[in-house]
Formats: sequence, C-alpha cells, structure tokens
Amino acid sequence: MSEYEAVIGLETHIQLNTQTKIFCSCKADSWVDGPNTNICPVCSGMPGVLPVLNKRAVEKGVVLARAMNSDIRPVSYFDRKNYFYPDLPKGYQITQYDQSLAKGGYMDIPQADGSIRRVTIWKLHLEEDAGKTKNELGRRLIDFNRCGVPLVEMVTGPDLHTADEAANYLTRLRQLLRWIGVSEADMEKGHLRCDANVSLRLKGETILNNKTEIKNVNSIEAVRAAIEKEILRQTHEYEAGRRIEAWTLEWDEDTQTLKKMRSKETEADYRYFREPDLLPVFMDEAWKAAILADFPELPLARKARFITEFGLPEYDAELLTSERSLSEYFISTTLAYSGDVKRVSNWLINDVLRMLKENDKTAGELVLTPQHLAEIIKLVDANTINTNTAKSLLEKVNQTGKSPAEIVQAEGLAKVSDDSLIRQVVEQVIAESPKEVAAYKSGKVGLMGFFVGQVMKKMQGKADAQMARAMLETMLM
Ligand SMILES: [Zn+2]
Repeated sequence: MSEYEAVIGLETHIQLNTQTKIFCSCKADSWVDGPNTNICPVCSGMPGVLPVLNKRAVEKGVVLARAMNSDIRPVSYFDRKNYFYPDLPKGYQITQYDQSLAKGGYMDIPQADGSIRRVTIWKLHLEEDAGKTKNELGRRLIDFNRCGVPLVEMVTGPDLHTADEAANYLTRLRQLLRWIGVSEADMEKGHLRCDANVSLRLKGETILNNKTEIKNVNSIEAVRAAIEKEILRQTHEYEAGRRIEAWTLEWDEDTQTLKKMRSKETEADYRYFREPDLLPVFMDEAWKAAILADFPELPLARKARFITEFGLPEYDAELLTSERSLSEYFISTTLAYSGDVKRVSNWLINDVLRMLKENDKTAGELVLTPQHLAEIIKLVDANTINTNTAKSLLEKVNQTGKSPAEIVQAEGLAKVSDDSLIRQVVEQVIAESPKEVAAYKSGKVGLMGFFVGQVMKKMQGKADAQMARAMLETMLM
C-alpha cells in the first residue's frame, strides 16, 4: 500500500435552488411531489418547443463561480450533449462545453494539521438535470419532475490523495454552497451529487494512470467508503501485475461494494455541438456587479477575522463560522453588547447552539434575537440575575418573543440581594440542619455546597449565591 499514491478528482453536480427549472417555468425542487406532476412540453422533450434560459440560474452560477475563484466569461454558450437514455426524453442534454460560464478557479481546504490544500477547479458549467428511473414490479418507471432542474457541474483537478481529503472537500463545499445560498446541498435529496475519479501511481511519480469513475454515491460517508474500497482494489490489481481498465463503477450502498457498470464513453461519443435554440449569454460588467453586489465574506475569511479581530480561539471561530446565520448572529450580538466578546461566544456555543440542535433550527430562525441575547448577558454582568436564571430566560424569550427585562420584571426573576431576606433564609437552613452543621464545624468544609444549595432552593434560585455563601461562612464559624 505504502508505495502507491492515490490520485482523486471529484465531479459534483449541484442543484441550484431556483424557483423554476432552467429552460421552462415548471417548479424546480419537486422531489416531494408525485411523479410527473411538474412537467411541461419543454422539459418533457415534446417536438417543436423552445427553451428559454432562466436568468436566476445564470446569476446563481455566477455567485458560485465567484466563490470558487473562477473567471466569469464575458460570453458563454450552451451546447448539446447527445446521448440516449430513458430519463432524457429529448435525446440530448443542454449543457455547456468549451465556452462555459466560468473558467478555472480553486477552493482552499483547511487540513487537520493546519495547512491548506488548494484544490483546482477544471470545469464549472451550467446544465439541465435528467429525470429519474426506477425498477418496480418488473417495470421500468420514469419520473420527469427532475428533467430541466438547473445544475452546476463542477470538476476538480486530480488534487486529492486520500478518501479523507475527498470527504473533507465535500464537507467544505456543502458548507460553502449553503453559505452563499445557491443550493440546499442536501446529498440525501440529490441536491449535491458526487462522482469520484480514482487512479493510483507510484509515490513520487507525476504521471496519471488509467482512472475509474465511481458513481451513485449519496452521502459523504459513502464517498469516503467507496474511494477506500477502490484504492484497495486498484492496489491489488497493480500488485498482481494487471492494468487498470477505465471502467465506470457503481457504489452499492446496501452491500458496500463496487460493481462494474460499463466501459467509459469518451467525449467524442457525445457529439457536442452548439445549442441552436439558445442565444449566447452576455455577462457584461454591470450585470456581474449587480449579481455580486452583496456577495458575502466567505467562511474561511470570516473565521480568520474572528481570530484576529475579535481574539477568539480557533475552536470558537471554527464553530461560529460553521454556518452563515450563526456567524452573523455572533456579529450582531457583539454589536449590541460592548463587553468581552468571548462571553458572547461562550453563550452561543454552550447554550444557543444546544437550543438550535434541540429545535432543529438555524440561528436565523431563532425568536431570541442577538439584541435579546446581549441584554441577557448584560443582566448577568449587572448582577441583576444569576447564570441559572439567565439560561432559563433564553428559553422563555425564545418561546414568547418578549424582552428579557420584561420577563424578569413580570416573573420576579431578579436576583435577591436583600441581605435581611437572605439572612432569614440562611438562619432557617442552619436551624433545620443540625447534623450537617456539626459535621461542618468538625472539619467537613465540603458541606458548604450543601448549605448554599439549600438556600438557593428555598429562594427558587434567585438568591445572590456569593452573598449567601459569605453569610453562611460567617455564621458557621
Ligand atoms: Zn417544464
């Protein structure tokens, strides 16, 4: 194993989250609808119909190209890729071949050791999706709902070398796609699909040997498992002195095995030519500028800024930039709270993230606003409420949308710092616990936690714990 190096390139198909399909006005994301309910003569390939390009699909493609550091071509064209397949009723797919929307590019992937792996982008183009077929009761059924859904096909250079690196690339790509808002990027729903090209060479060599293409992998874990299997298989083939044939392999999730589908077609088999029914796309500077006017700061840049500008530890910065709305929630909270930003980060990571997980929500969907959160932290800082009350206040604000101060007022949650009131309760606790008092006085000072706990319990958690502790210490001397 050790004398070989794997060379891996990934081909991804990204479903753009437009309302309608790329060449007609049928609903685009219809995977929950009944089969063949979102179709029209255009996307089901009837004779004589003409495609009309969806402007939003081009715009989302431009946003994605910008995120991948690709050059956007001022003029791009659509082409026909001819092949027969039952779920492609026209007999050709409208795609982009040599003059696609974008050219070149790269994506930087942080590695576990802190270094960056730069993955080059070889191809980035727009195209239409095909339908879906399935075998049921000995019949072949076809659903055309997915026909004409806009896709970006993106192909990386052979820059990845392990199954883990490939999985890491997909994880980062999924984060980026959601961040820039061009795709839901849910692999299980087919919004993000991945084929992997795998070949082996001796370590130190730069040649590219014959590769195989693995298809039908529907999760990041499956991509990792399939690539690992294929690297092992090719290693055995080389060691047995055999050549690797350029096969297309299909991953079988149930048996976790690879099956040979077919020998691979070459590009010439597809007889590409310019799509005569569509005009070229002229991307002038004004349109491009309008599309990219609110292009966001990307995850890695934002993470670096959280470290340098806010002084956050890398762990916090990584977690807070895992999702765009969470990172924006953090920024908004720091604007509303003038104290130590690490306190904001702690509250978000320890309490707000837990709340999000429990409710299966993103930060942008919380009723608890960044201003509410800032107000709650300020109430703790000002000694108005204690930490436990603050935690339950998060939930209450999120359920009702009322301001924290209002709830504190209405429910009498303010911390009790009235020393005569606390003194009364402390005296009561001491009177009720003669055994513990005797034990404490004979040296079991660990019982202080018990006494403070009793006081807090009698005062519904609202006592100033520090004040109660100080009083107990004096009175038990
Ligand atoms: Zn249609």
